[in-house]
Amino acid sequence: TTTPAPTTYSTDAASTVLHSCFPQGLGSFVGGQVVSGNGESITLTAAATGAPFTHYPDLDAEGIDELLDNASRGAQVWGALNGFERAGILRNIAGVVAEHSEELAVLESATTGKPIRDARAEVAKVVEMFGYYSGWADKVTGQTIPVPGNWLTYTERVPWGVVVAITPWNAPVFTAGWNSAAPLAAGNAVVLKPSEFTPASTVRLAQLAHQAGLPEGVFNVAVGLGSTVGAALTTDPRVGKVSFIGSVPTGRRVAVAAAGAGIPTVLELGGKSANIVFADADLDRAADGAVSAIFSNAGQSCVAGSRLLIERSIHEEFIDRVVERTSRLRVGDPFDTTTEVGPIFTAPQFETVTSLIETGIREGGRRVTEAALPPSLAGSELAGGHWVMPTLLDGVRPDNSLETTEVFGPVVGADVFDTEAEAIARANHTNFGLAGAVWTHNVSRAHHVARSVKAGTFWINAYKTIHVAVPFGGFGDSGHGRSSGPGVLDEYTQTKAVWVPTQATGTPFPSLSY
Ligand code: NAD
Repeated sequence: TTTPAPTTYSTDAASTVLHSCFPQGLGSFVGGQVVSGNGESITLTAAATGAPFTHYPDLDAEGIDELLDNASRGAQVWGALNGFERAGILRNIAGVVAEHSEELAVLESATTGKPIRDARAEVAKVVEMFGYYSGWADKVTGQTIPVPGNWLTYTERVPWGVVVAITPWNAPVFTAGWNSAAPLAAGNAVVLKPSEFTPASTVRLAQLAHQAGLPEGVFNVAVGLGSTVGAALTTDPRVGKVSFIGSVPTGRRVAVAAAGAGIPTVLELGGKSANIVFADADLDRAADGAVSAIFSNAGQSCVAGSRLLIERSIHEEFIDRVVERTSRLRVGDPFDTTTEVGPIFTAPQFETVTSLIETGIREGGRRVTEAALPPSLAGSELAGGHWVMPTLLDGVRPDNSLETTEVFGPVVGADVFDTEAEAIARANHTNFGLAGAVWTHNVSRAHHVARSVKAGTFWINAYKTIHVAVPFGGFGDSGHGRSSGPGVLDEYTQTKAVWVPTQATGTPFPSLSY
């Protein structure tokens, strides 16, 4: 590691960590180096203290143009390598990221306010992603397909060229790895557009990928605002495909803009996932699961278990267990290795979360967890941060806004149910369809509920486990396309069919007017 991990968070510490990674300042990653742009200056605020700690320049139109030219050239170079060569470089990236994992985790924690132990776990996942997809890079194969007549017919998988990946602020380095390892394995160049609130770890990841042997122009990062940089990247003819992770309204805007330019999209959007607890469940495990489902990353997680549905006979007892565990969560300093819950990462999101808690209470929810900040935060610089205590509102009925609105903060709405059918109906009482879970010892019921809830990922007696080898994505408003598992290679390639007559007899030109 080049950056010793500070043990106490402060605005100065965040600024020092950033400076040690980017002595020349933060900027976009173009042509194998960090460049400063000429666009608007964007100020970054430390979520844990509320104070500004750095600023960086937006990429202007000229910079975007240059970046896309670089990416187009990079796509040609990368696409011309064979899969075995690409596999070797992706394996090297996994190795270089692993060597720099502590530095990346500290940078992530410093610039987002994410607890350091979560940042470490997420960087480890990035290593896993590059390792996993390095294994696929030399296995992107077509098929030979028997057809009537004398033909050899086969398919090839052709990369799109330049894939633009737009990512959110809640898991910057994780989503950068998630949306770059697979397209790279498939032979594409990538242009990452991280959230304007959290660009640093993505730029550092690009540097490390370059250091690992990725040719110039293959991994590019465009930093700046969504409305300018993001919008320009989704309609440019040099772009083959756009993958987007973020909110539903922005995802739809991106999909419409890209479709207008003939560019296909993969969308991973928000969620409002239900955690269903039956009376026959292991209530201790279910309570642990319910707490981590919503409060890890301070609820800023697309798969957060933000609705807790509890069978009536155990309602009070189960709420007590969840409240007791919630009261023991360690909320505070992101650099303290024992911290479990950090701040809300952005000021606008802090406003959204606090106002949605008020709405949930006004519409009938009853707060049963402590609202006051822990004394450890008082009297330090951290008191100025964007803190929201882990919040459980009980009695959140189907007509409460919290039933259907994604809060994207540490807020769970709980309610009772009487029958399995009612639990399933409540779980499906949302247009989202990202994730969900059921807790029960009844095997048939567990599988029936898993089959009946509309969600791209579902856990039985577990929550939040994901792995790059397993398909992940949404139903309904939560998006379309998948961004992990072997099938993703199909998302990031196009199929070409090739026909060759194997005998000169007969006509190879049937009169089909397709
Ligand atoms: P957001 O939609 O506000 O922004 C996401 C990205 O889109 C950012 O990089 C932003 O700059 C960019 N953007 C904004 N306007 C754009 C435009 N017009 N054109 C192109 N790009 C534009 O989302 P956010 O607030 O950063 O993240 C929170 C959301 O992300 C939540 O809804 C959460 O559920 C979702 N999310 C989903 C997943 C998933 O895998 N399904 C994972 C993480 C987060």
